[in-house]
Amino acid sequence: MFDYIVIGAGIVGSTIARELSRYQVKVKVLDKENDVANVQTLANSAIIHSGHNPDPDSLKAKLCVWGNKLYEKMEEELSIPLLKSGAYVVAHNKTEEEKLAELYETAKINKVPEFYYLDSQEAKKQEPNISKNVTKVLSLPTTKVTYPWEVAFACMENAIMNGVSLQKNALVTKIIPNNEYFEIEVNGKQIFKTKNIINAAGVACDDIAGMVEKEVPYKVHGRKGEYFVLDKRVKGFVNHVLYPLPSDKGKGVLITPQFHGNILIGPTSEYVDDKFNVSTSFEGLDYVKTHAKELAENIPFNDIIRSFAGIRSSIESGDFYIEESKEFKGFYHVAGIDSPGLTSAPAIALYLLKEVIKIDKKQKINKDFNPIIRKQREFHSLSKEKQIELLKEDARYGNIICKCEKITEKEVIDAINGELGSDTIKGIKKRIRVGAGLCQGGYCEEKVMRLISREKNISPLDVKYDDKASKLFVGETKVNKL
Ligand SMILES: Cc1cc2nc3c(=O)[nH]c(=O)nc-3n(C[C@H](O)[C@H](O)[C@H](O)COP(=O)(O)OP(=O)(O)OC[C@H]3O[C@@H](n4cnc5c(N)ncnc54)[C@H](O)[C@@H]3O)c2cc1C
Repeated sequence: MFDYIVIGAGIVGSTIARELSRYQVKVKVLDKENDVANVQTLANSAIIHSGHNPDPDSLKAKLCVWGNKLYEKMEEELSIPLLKSGAYVVAHNKTEEEKLAELYETAKINKVPEFYYLDSQEAKKQEPNISKNVTKVLSLPTTKVTYPWEVAFACMENAIMNGVSLQKNALVTKIIPNNEYFEIEVNGKQIFKTKNIINAAGVACDDIAGMVEKEVPYKVHGRKGEYFVLDKRVKGFVNHVLYPLPSDKGKGVLITPQFHGNILIGPTSEYVDDKFNVSTSFEGLDYVKTHAKELAENIPFNDIIRSFAGIRSSIESGDFYIEESKEFKGFYHVAGIDSPGLTSAPAIALYLLKEVIKIDKKQKINKDFNPIIRKQREFHSLSKEKQIELLKEDARYGNIICKCEKITEKEVIDAINGELGSDTIKGIKKRIRVGAGLCQGGYCEEKVMRLISREKNISPLDVKYDDKASKLFVGETKVNKL
């Protein structure tokens, strides 16, 4: 019998799992995917927002500002990537400047720790490529940019270190509430018993809730966001996140410097019927191009290396819904976690545990909890002396697998065999950026495939790109032996 089962291993499930592991409780996390952070947490703007935008008095406002602060603690404890970029919200004329003033007031009410105006001259000095039509800017220095799935990996890895178990490829298919506990059916056959369930299933949170509640208090209306990624050779094109003024469609099309030097442009904001369909469209990407030009001059669209889309798990209220079921005690909803859910995630976990579950009254502290993970920086970013030292220890540091991102064989092996390792091409890319560069895997995917095959002792025919349907090969042709 588990004390808590968390459904969903996105950023929200991962931060909750880590916080639960501070207590003497038996916890399991279930996710239908073959990896942590494979859905909404994989496809977003990666911004740790300041909290200037959510409606005052909303949970979003409270948890966004709090979450932003908690990221600095996570950076210290978990070695997560955090680019302290700051952000500019731009106005182009007097009418927009009035709206900027409203945003300024919202930032004040929401207790954003630092924000101030810049005139157009100062803004252009700081950001030479900012649109020449910008008249005034609201500067938000506490805005940061992270690498979302690395944060989820770090939280989940730390939770596992502290006693949590994770089961991947575990699709929750049924939940049967009993008087004292719940039975969770996984993949139509395996049954787990648990005293409490935390529903952190992202866009599927209403489907999970519908397995328990007669009347689900919310419905997810998937809202798609499409993006372009520019190659990291354009690093420095902008150094701050550039936001337009928000509208009823959300924060709008942004230009965002990424932690590793790429520039992200997007997203759109369109309600969709199929909340699981993350395809991109010509119209969506065209919209992104048109609106990005309102923020900056001469955007290097020639350096686009890929496009992608993510779906926000928006609900009618527009706010997060974090509550215990009225009907079934021990079933907790963590629903409607659209933007700024990435920012808020560490605060969502604390709010749920401390203010909703009131865990301190129920569970003892895990005195052995260790909050620290130390991660070695990428080999290519180390000093020459350190590189030589590592090369002497292991010659596989001398074999470059990904030329664009300069990733070595040893780093790929560690990503395959690590605590939260992966045996898919996409899983390795998420962990160490193999294939994330200019050639998008054209050079290195085949090499990674061979390493997975060797390390896991499986045929290359059985190595997958991502889920079990994504085979790389259908069969052998002329080559009998790889
Ligand atoms: C386009 C876009 C831009 C965004 N930009 C930002 C931003 O810049 N800053 C910010 O703060 N937020 C942003 N967000 C929001 C942020 O990405 C989300 O709030 C956050 O990722 C939600 O995390 P999650 O863990 O709730 O969901 P997810 O990451 O989707 O995780 C839910 C998990 O539940 C699992 N699951 C679902 N059904 C089942 C089942 N039946 N059985 C088992 N497992 C199941 C899924 O496989 C998934 O892994 C953006 C979102 C989008 C889409």
